[in-house]
Amino acid sequence: MNIFEKSQAIKNQEIKAKDNVEGFINTINNTNNSINAFLEINNENAIKKAEEIDKKAQNKENLGSLAGLVFAIKANINVEDFIISAASKTLENYQGSYNATVVDKILKEDGIILGITNMDEFAAGSSSETSFYGVTDNPAAPGRIPGGSSGGSAAAIAGDMCDISLGSDTGGSIRNPASHCGVMGFKPSYGAVSRQGLIDLSMSLDQIGPLATDATGIALTLDTIVAHDPSECTSIDYDKPNFTEIALEAKTSENPFEGVKIGICDEFKNVTDDKINKIVDKKINELSSLGAEINEFCFNYIDLCLPTYYLINYVEFFSATRKYDGRKYGHKIEDVCGDEVLRRIDMGSYISQREFSGKFYKGALKARSLIKNEIDEMLKDTDLIMGPTVPKLPHKIGEKLDPMEMYAYDVLTVIANLSGIPAGSMKAGEVDDIPVGLQIQAKSFEDHKIIKAFSAIEEL
Ligand code: GLN
Repeated sequence: MNIFEKSQAIKNQEIKAKDNVEGFINTINNTNNSINAFLEINNENAIKKAEEIDKKAQNKENLGSLAGLVFAIKANINVEDFIISAASKTLENYQGSYNATVVDKILKEDGIILGITNMDEFAAGSSSETSFYGVTDNPAAPGRIPGGSSGGSAAAIAGDMCDISLGSDTGGSIRNPASHCGVMGFKPSYGAVSRQGLIDLSMSLDQIGPLATDATGIALTLDTIVAHDPSECTSIDYDKPNFTEIALEAKTSENPFEGVKIGICDEFKNVTDDKINKIVDKKINELSSLGAEINEFCFNYIDLCLPTYYLINYVEFFSATRKYDGRKYGHKIEDVCGDEVLRRIDMGSYISQREFSGKFYKGALKARSLIKNEIDEMLKDTDLIMGPTVPKLPHKIGEKLDPMEMYAYDVLTVIANLSGIPAGSMKAGEVDDIPVGLQIQAKSFEDHKIIKAFSAIEEL
């Protein structure tokens, strides 16, 4: 049963919302001690909400599109009455005092918020090892990192602890853990989803998005959270399609790939582990046999991607952290944060001070336009760009990587953030029993093309 079918089954009470919630609570009680996907859950509230939904369903009252589906929210998205720490000691006592726009929208559609998930501190990482609350394990490859920074949100899906989770993606933080945990994760076009209530990592790159086991779960969530938010200055008003309809149609369509143009790039493969390439190529070739037209493109700026991304990230993060000076939130960030966060603050501060010469940040913005223009150019001639999500397999928990090795995980995902385009990851297969993701990217505000592809591919 996919998530859409489950939502229908709850509405007609073949499944009780209460049983759905209690099933997940059971799993969490049995496994979260070792997986550490959730930092906090609120059983009582979730069960109460589920009972209300069951009652309404039995009385044939109107219910929202997410009725009875269970959500987990990354610890950097504000939810009233939960601790929203961004997995940092800095905010260990910060209780969400309002709901992020996306959270309000989920609640309005009768989604049930069960708890808050673990992550890299302030979303600055690719492994979920930098959380103040300890590392999250990967349910799909035990003993290995789940990826990051939304590692808890991906592990909660892979470990069957909720129906849908929210993550944030600044340079890959939804897609990277989705890839490592073998689930689906989607970063919407920049501006499609309100960031109001998200704790900034790098505001010109950050976007909130869903993770789930299947395309209907992603689509239902997008139908809820993609919306213009006048209170958020980067939110864009556009004519959004019905994602769920598109996902459902793709499942019954006879040839969903007929005439679809798919772009691939040698430069993506050259930085990627051969074993991963093999799995991803096989998936793409299947689509070609179904009528998709595969075209090769050249991407000249692969070497610019990480330096450009990290420079912008350092500067914007430094500026975002100035409010954690110990007056309002209890701790001064520099006094209590971990090494990676401190590195970004130090570097961001250094670059900002040197900025009068325009050497660094302005240079990075120029490089960002080069990357964006090249990607936009590529997307003029193709519907989708496909390739691996992450260039290497997740390392074993505890293995020590230096910062550059850690950053190297992000080379294929930062491109979409720098360009503002939508991008998602779904499981392509496994290498040595470890999941490997297929990344699909599209033009800005053609997010639905990725959802359609997700849904059609998962039917194969
Ligand atoms: N791993 C990248 C970083 O450390 C991306 C993080 C993210 O998307 N939040 O910045």
